[in-house]
Amino acid sequence: MAKIRSVDFPSDVFEGLLAYARHVHPREVLLLLRGKVSGGSLRVEEFLVPPFAVQGEGFASFSPWFLPLDPSILGTVHSHPSGSLRPSTEDFNHFYGRVMVIVAYPYRSESNIAAYEKDGGNLPVRLL
Ligand SMILES: [Zn+2]
Repeated sequence: MAKIRSVDFPSDVFEGLLAYARHVHPREVLLLLRGKVSGGSLRVEEFLVPPFAVQGEGFASFSPWFLPLDPSILGTVHSHPSGSLRPSTEDFNHFYGRVMVIVAYPYRSESNIAAYEKDGGNLPVRLL
């Protein structure tokens, strides 16, 4: 697979994501990112609620066994109500897809989002 250089969000998708996270706060959200790989970038086109998602305070999980085999699923995004952008060990244990995006409280701007690869590498997030 080609090396991924960045994760690109159209600004309306980005704003929608932050608004959703603010709405659900202080609970954690977990969503799937759908889009395509374009020129070495993951281009997010929409986010969706995974089937059988469990959401509560301090945890968000889902069973990947219930997910359709959908190559347009780029990865996941979840929120950190704590405000930290650092992924936990648990996060990497539940890595799904090619990228893990974290949005952190207060969910207001580009400084409240980070993206990681499975090996822990940080990917730049770009707004389109
Ligand atoms: Zn996390």
